[in-house]
Amino acid sequence: MSPLSELIKEIALCQQCEIAKSRTNTVPGEGAEDADILFIGEAPGWHEDQQGRPFVGPAGQYLDELLAAINLKREQVYIANVIKCRPTGNRDPLPVEIGNCRKWLERQIELICPKMIVTLGRYSMAMFFSGKSISKIHGTAQKRDDVIYYAMYHPAAALHQQSLRQTIETDMLKIPSLLAEAQSMAEAEPPLEQLKMFEV
Ligand code: URA
Repeated sequence: MSPLSELIKEIALCQQCEIAKSRTNTVPGEGAEDADILFIGEAPGWHEDQQGRPFVGPAGQYLDELLAAINLKREQVYIANVIKCRPTGNRDPLPVEIGNCRKWLERQIELICPKMIVTLGRYSMAMFFSGKSISKIHGTAQKRDDVIYYAMYHPAAALHQQSLRQTIETDMLKIPSLLAEAQSMAEAEPPLEQLKMFEV
């Protein structure tokens, strides 16, 4: 069993928050274990809680369409959430829940080792771009430690607010060139052995 599958089993046993009592399933995330791109949403909704899979309701269908626009299928990326259990009544995640769940997401990032992390919505953005506002930074990227962090609106926001549809679609279309840039940068770096050869 892969380390990521073991982690998913561990997540399924988590009882740290109150909402663990009301969940049907944990929703750890799914996709390619060696994905170049990791999409991080907010929290499971009703459909996700029922199926134990991320983004399978209306926002998920829209996310699939956005992925198709850049010739990707969900199996080729990894999709996770900031918190792994459905907040009761679809309320926003609480700070304590985000804090408790943080270790799972951190471990997922370590294991998947993505080249690009795309945050979907405010809660996910806040984990990587602290103190920023989504209306200002959506569609912009930051490179840190060889990972590109890219902020987007949440697909559900674009479903509820038609005016955001064009914005989220334009932002999605920027992903392939950002990723290509990251790949060419990584390839341009000489391996450590080669560097040592040139040391005097
Ligand atoms: N919204 C999210 O943020 N995550 C899901 O998995 C579904 C809807």
